[in-house]
Amino acid sequence: MNENDITVNLAPGSKIDSVDFENLTFGNVFTDHMLICDYKNGVWEKPVIKPYEPFLIDPSAKVFHYGQAIFEGMKAYKDENDDVWLFRPDQNYERFNKSATRLAMPEVPENVFMGGLKKLVEIEKAWVKKGKGNSLYIRPFMIATGPGVLAAPALFYRFMIILSPAKSYYSGEVKVLIAEHFSRAANGGIGAAKAAGNYSAQFYPTKLANEQGYQQIIWTDDATHTKLEEAGTMNVFFRINDTLYTAPTSERILDGVTRKSLIDVAKREGINVEVRPVLVSELVEATENGTLQEVFGAGTAAVVNPIVGFSYKEKYYELPKQENSVALFLKEKLNNIQYKLAEDTFGWTV
Ligand code: PMP
Repeated sequence: MNENDITVNLAPGSKIDSVDFENLTFGNVFTDHMLICDYKNGVWEKPVIKPYEPFLIDPSAKVFHYGQAIFEGMKAYKDENDDVWLFRPDQNYERFNKSATRLAMPEVPENVFMGGLKKLVEIEKAWVKKGKGNSLYIRPFMIATGPGVLAAPALFYRFMIILSPAKSYYSGEVKVLIAEHFSRAANGGIGAAKAAGNYSAQFYPTKLANEQGYQQIIWTDDATHTKLEEAGTMNVFFRINDTLYTAPTSERILDGVTRKSLIDVAKREGINVEVRPVLVSELVEATENGTLQEVFGAGTAAVVNPIVGFSYKEKYYELPKQENSVALFLKEKLNNIQYKLAEDTFGWTV
């Protein structure tokens, strides 16, 4: 199958002129078209690109009852010549199918995921605005549409891609709470999958943290709550003196595309990076002896999200103000690759 094997039904007009691109809130506006590909009785049908609209689904569909749902998050960027680029889409494709396998869902063929993605973004390229910070957020997802409330994997699935224009966002000062009771993942669980249930399970503890004035939770390992694992829905980095630390990916930690890209960019820039478990006690000690320089989340949405302070065992620790933030330096370097403002020495842009 190639791109020509996708049926395309174009919308009669575009709503793009009604969109205020200067005042976008993340993930609220969607483009004119979406991609749908259904899986029935062991076979993927022909993908269809059609106008964005709601669809009918049986109330007994397994997605509603047993949460068979996975997704990806990635972005398209426009360069100065109006060309549109994807950033390491192969990584999202691989991760998507790993998530599918973990949730007993069928793998999506490369031509459906990548071919569909490229064709849809091509059709919607007017929605990708030029200029650093502007992007088109891409949300591929799959749900179990098969009916029946028997607790077993469905026989029917729907793969879809929807697109949402995004602006760079400044999330304000981010203070985090280090998890002492709740967990987002456990060994043998689904933490390494982008499964919908991982996110709904975070909402309640995050709401409690928000009520205490913290924007996010730094998740710790479920068994001992002594190792620092992820920050909200981002991977997390720590800079102690001049070395960057981040936990190795595991069954509990999502293999973030931004995380691994930042590690490679940092190494290229001669920055010391150590991938190893980081203990809460080390973080506290480094704050107290003045060696902790920076903590930041890393993910597609913001690239890096600097953290200004953290709370642990009822005590708040303020991080030093950074004149020369390594986090922002790395963000700039990665953004330059994504927007084709610097040579892509890694061959990541597609
Ligand atoms: N961890 C979690 C739990 C996430 O949801 C995300 C966002 N996909 C990340 C890390 C960062 O991954 P990426 O850099 O691929 O966006």
